[in-house]
Amino acid sequence: MIRDTYVEINLDNLKYNLENILERVEDTVKVVAVVKADGYGHGAVGISKVLMENGAYALGVATLSEALELRAAYPEYKIFVMGYTPDNQLHAVVSNDLIQCVFSLKQAKILSALGKTQKKFPKVHIKYDTGFNRLGFKDCPESIEAIKEIMKLDHLCVEGIFSHFALAGDEANKKQFKDFMYAVSQVESAGKTFKFKHICDSISAIDYPEFNLDMIRPGAILYGMKSFRKNDIDLKPVMSFKTKVYHVKKLMPGEGVSYNFKWKAERESVVATLPVGYSDGLPRNMMEAGQVTIHGKRAPIIGVICMDQCMVDVTDIPNVQVGDTVILYGDGQQNTLTIEEAAKLGKTNKNEILTRITRRTPRVYIKNGEIDHIVNHLLTGASYAYQKQSK
Ligand SMILES: *Cc1c(COP(=O)(O)O)cnc(C)c1O
Repeated sequence: MIRDTYVEINLDNLKYNLENILERVEDTVKVVAVVKADGYGHGAVGISKVLMENGAYALGVATLSEALELRAAYPEYKIFVMGYTPDNQLHAVVSNDLIQCVFSLKQAKILSALGKTQKKFPKVHIKYDTGFNRLGFKDCPESIEAIKEIMKLDHLCVEGIFSHFALAGDEANKKQFKDFMYAVSQVESAGKTFKFKHICDSISAIDYPEFNLDMIRPGAILYGMKSFRKNDIDLKPVMSFKTKVYHVKKLMPGEGVSYNFKWKAERESVVATLPVGYSDGLPRNMMEAGQVTIHGKRAPIIGVICMDQCMVDVTDIPNVQVGDTVILYGDGQQNTLTIEEAAKLGKTNKNEILTRITRRTPRVYIKNGEIDHIVNHLLTGASYAYQKQSK
């Protein structure tokens, strides 16, 4: 049923990370578990239940379609669309009880009108830009006036206001926080207050506990990714990426491998072919630097990585056979490549390594050491999962 190239998701480690984060922050701080980009490649539907059952307040996504995928799977969970939704799609935000990011009076009015016709009170969080210059009301007096207008609309529940750090250094972070708090106080001086004020992502939530306010929005740390500049927290890696050897052959000196013979055997060599390529998410520019782990030993990726396959040199690993397990990314134990190392070799960042893994690759969810369920998007459709036989 499943492909031999797959991603293993350790739900126990995901739970461990969330619990550690919850323990670290004040009891009053709500956690929006960020599961955009298909849960950073871990499968948003597959991980959201564990997150919501273990203390997350809401799920955070970037787009409406990500929210709708989750809504179809989980009718009850709070889902926050942190990105922009075009005007002509806002009706779906309202009918699906999503929480929407808003940064214009115009969109707030549309949502309020939709709330009236659909007999609902759409929840919104106002996005306030304190310098990142991505989304949000520009930090200026006109914006404060517009937000005060939004607060007066009927049929709209202005639940929160938020900003995002550029993480451009301690001084810049502190200035962003100060500007955010000043803007909030300006708006609140008109009388109405926000239930949730928030600005922290993963790094800032841990590095600046004093900026956590009412809510934090961690993504990377849920998945065990650390990039802190000041503090630390114990986290476990959640994802490993595995495949199997599909072919083994001996090469004579001078024989080439893959397109353009970028690699040529300098000695009698043993080469294994793996059914994983750049379309599965293995960075193509790992061709001259990548490594995989077989029998606890590192094998270099040789030649050009193809769309669906790649070759590794196993000359120095005795007795490699068809069907042997290959670890592309692991937890660093038994000589496996961590996501961090993979990011270095692929000349990118950790989140890109995670989110690149495409939906052709099945996700196998592990709970209490056994397979809980498997999601194979190609066989089962986006939000359908094979449940464990015994359930
Ligand atoms: C992606 C995102 C986050 C989470 O970022 P991490 O660095 O992974 O914690 C938080 N807030 C917003 C608005 C985001 O887009």
